[in-house]
Amino acid sequence: MAGIARVARSSSIFGVGRCSYSTTASAASGTGLRADHAPPFLHSGGVARDVSKDRNVQWVFLGCPGVGKGTYASRLSSLLGVPHIATGDLVREELASSGPLSQQLSEIVNQGKLVSDEIIINLLSKRLEAGDARGETGFILDGFPRTIKQAEILDGVTDIDLVVNLKLPEGVLVEKCLGRRICSQCGKNFNIANIDFKGGDGKPGISMAPLLPPSHCTSKLITRADDTEEVVKARLRIYNEQSQPLEEYYRTKGKLLEFDLPGGIPESWPRLLEALSLDDYEEKRSAVA
Ligand code: ADP
Repeated sequence: MAGIARVARSSSIFGVGRCSYSTTASAASGTGLRADHAPPFLHSGGVARDVSKDRNVQWVFLGCPGVGKGTYASRLSSLLGVPHIATGDLVREELASSGPLSQQLSEIVNQGKLVSDEIIINLLSKRLEAGDARGETGFILDGFPRTIKQAEILDGVTDIDLVVNLKLPEGVLVEKCLGRRICSQCGKNFNIANIDFKGGDGKPGISMAPLLPPSHCTSKLITRADDTEEVVKARLRIYNEQSQPLEEYYRTKGKLLEFDLPGGIPESWPRLLEALSLDDYEEKRSAVA
């Protein structure tokens, strides 16, 4: 907690004391793109209605393990020009560094458990401090907050504009985690699962084609140590116990955008942009590039 507070006091990244964002219930009007950074074509649209002059977007992505938070958060971060900060990545970097924390972290992560608030906030503070030094003024957080306590800490130092809650049926989540592969060289994520999930109870089925790597990555694919069936199920259980209450927390604040993924990236990405009132943004941005 002290770490984030320290960063918040000394940094513009959390914009403490100078940002006054509206917290409207509508996802579209809550996106709060920075006025002087948002392209002119957004200024008259709903997306730019609640605009702060001080900083870029501060969004959070919620969702169960394997739902695709990283994929969509990373795409949106490129689109909006803000960093995608995934606390899971920060933990894995720390693990790979073989630093003093790595043994302790690997035991926790490989059981699917949550790392302590102190460690996670320390890692996040360091990342935010480094970003601040590079002039970053916004973020898309993925994997943080994960508990009500973490959300309260975050609320104590900044005003989150929007929380996107991605959803998929549990059966799909397990298959997606088990099919996930990462290129050990370029770090890109792929998925070898061919998902054909039958709907039921009025819910539609979901199909997702595999996301296969290019040939130069094929021989370098690795699987996350915590993507085994046993650990994935433990992570889902812990998510339901500790992270799901966050949905209600942000819903009552009017910040939650619920998004049921209709399928893989080709079906979901345009629909997500539409839900965020960014559907014209990508097209117009590439047209002016
Ligand atoms: P997942 O696919 O389960 O969402 P992540 O890549 O986000 O996985 O995180 C991997 C692991 O890192 C988690 O299982 C947990 O041990 C740790 N971790 C990441 N973010 C947090 C957090 N905010 N609080 C506590 N532990 C975290």
